[in-house]
Amino acid sequence: MQDFWWRTTWPLLPAILFCLVLWPVAGSGTALLVFCLSLCALLALHLFNLRKLAGWLKKPDLHAIPEGNGIWDDIFANLYQELRRHSRSETRLISALERLQQAAGALPDGVVVLNETDQIEWCNPSAGRQLGLRLDQDAGKPISYLVRQTEFIAYLNARNYTEPLLLKSARNPDVSLELQLVPFGENQKLLICRDITHLEKIETMRRDFIANVSHELRTPLTVVGGFLETLKDIEGAVPDNLRHYFDLMEDQTGRMRNLVEDLLMLSQLESSQNPPQESIVDVPALLDTVQTEAQNLSAGRHHVLIEHADPTLNLRGSQDELHSAFGNLVNNAIRYTPEGGEIRICWQLRGKEAVFSVRDTGIGIEQHHIARLTERFYRVDRSRSRETGGTGLGLSIVKHILTRHQARLEIQSEFGKGSTFSAIFPPEHVALKSAEKNKQGALTS
Ligand code: ADP
Repeated sequence: MQDFWWRTTWPLLPAILFCLVLWPVAGSGTALLVFCLSLCALLALHLFNLRKLAGWLKKPDLHAIPEGNGIWDDIFANLYQELRRHSRSETRLISALERLQQAAGALPDGVVVLNETDQIEWCNPSAGRQLGLRLDQDAGKPISYLVRQTEFIAYLNARNYTEPLLLKSARNPDVSLELQLVPFGENQKLLICRDITHLEKIETMRRDFIANVSHELRTPLTVVGGFLETLKDIEGAVPDNLRHYFDLMEDQTGRMRNLVEDLLMLSQLESSQNPPQESIVDVPALLDTVQTEAQNLSAGRHHVLIEHADPTLNLRGSQDELHSAFGNLVNNAIRYTPEGGEIRICWQLRGKEAVFSVRDTGIGIEQHHIARLTERFYRVDRSRSRETGGTGLGLSIVKHILTRHQARLEIQSEFGKGSTFSAIFPPEHVALKSAEKNKQGALTS
C-alpha cells in the first residue's frame, strides 16, 4: 500500500520543489498557480490511462492490453497476468468438457440431458440414432414432443424412475429399447437409452429352449409313468421284492412330471406378452375349490379353513392363472406346516385393494430368505421341499401370475411360528358383485 502512495504521488515531487523555488522569486500566487497546473497535468494523465482501460474493457483482448506508465503500468501488467491465468483455466475447462462430450458421444448407450421442464439440453449421437433426435434441431424442445409413445409419456409423468421402461423403437419395431430416467442436479434428468434387442433375442432363445425341452420330456415321462402304473396293477407282474423299487420309480417319474409341468407353465407365463384374458373370476367360489384341493392334499392332517371370504368381492383376470397362484400358496402352507397345524384363508378388501392371504402355523422362514423366495429353484430346505413333492418353482409361478395382474406378493413370517403369504390386487382388477349386477341391470333396461 505504501508503495501505491509513493508511486502515485512521486510525479508531484519535482513540481512541489519547483514551486518552492519559485515562491520567493515570483511570489506565492504564481507558485500556487504552477502547483495547480501540475495537479491538473497529473489528473489528465490518470484520466488518459483510465480512458484506455475503459476502452479496452469494452472489448477485452489479451493481446491488445494497453500500456501505461507509473502505477498504470502495474495495473495493466496485473490485469494481463490475471487474464492469462483465467484464459488458461478456461482452455483447460473447455478441453475437459470436450473430452467429456467425446466420451459421452462414444458411448454405445444413448444419453439425453433434460432440464427441469423436460426440454432437451444435450444428447449424444447414440441417442440420436435410437430415439431419432437431432441435437442441432431438437435442443430446447420438450422430449415428449419427440418421443411420443404413450408408455414413455406415462413413465415421464409418473415421476417414479426406480425401474427402467422397455419400449419398442418407434423407428424400427424390431428394435427393443430400455429407457431409464435418472434425476440429477436441480430437477434435471438424464435419460439413458440402451438397445436390448440382442439381450431379448438371447432371453427368447433361453425361454424357447426350456419350453421345447420340457415339451419333449413330457410325452416319454407320461409313457413311462403310465407303464409303471399298469405293471403295478397287473397281478403278479411285479414280484413283491421289487415292488419297493417300482414305488420309487413311480415317485421319481411323478416328480419329474411335476417339474416339467411347472417349467412349461413358467415359460408360458414368461413368453406371453399379452395380459391375461380378462374375465370376472368368482373368487369366493374359487376359494371353495382351492380349499377342497388343499384338504385332499392334507388328507386330514391339517385344519384348512376359510376364515373370511367377502362374497361380493371378485377379480378381473384369468380364472386358470388365479387358480394356480392361490392353489400354490395354499399347497405350500400345507407342505410346510407339520401335522395338526392350521391354515386360514382370507379374502377381503383392504382400502381399495383386494387381498388374498394364507396364514399357516408352520415352520416359518428366517427373514434373510424372504427376499429370495420367488427366485426359481430357491429353497430354504431342499430336502423338505423334495420330500413334499416341491419343484422350487411354485412361488416363481405365483409372482409371474401376480405381476400379470398388476398385483404384488407380501410375505410375513416368523421362524418356527408360521407364515402369511398375501396377494394384493390393485383397484383396477377388483370387481364388486353388486357393481356388476348394476351394470348388467343398466344394460338390460
Ligand atoms: P417348493 O416347490 O420348494 O415349495 P416354492 O417356490 O413354492 O418351491 O417355495 C420356495 C421355498 O419357499 C420353499 O422351498 C420353502 O422353503 C419356502 N416356503 C414357501 N412357502 C412356505 C410356507 N408356507 N412356509 C414355510 N416356507 C415356505
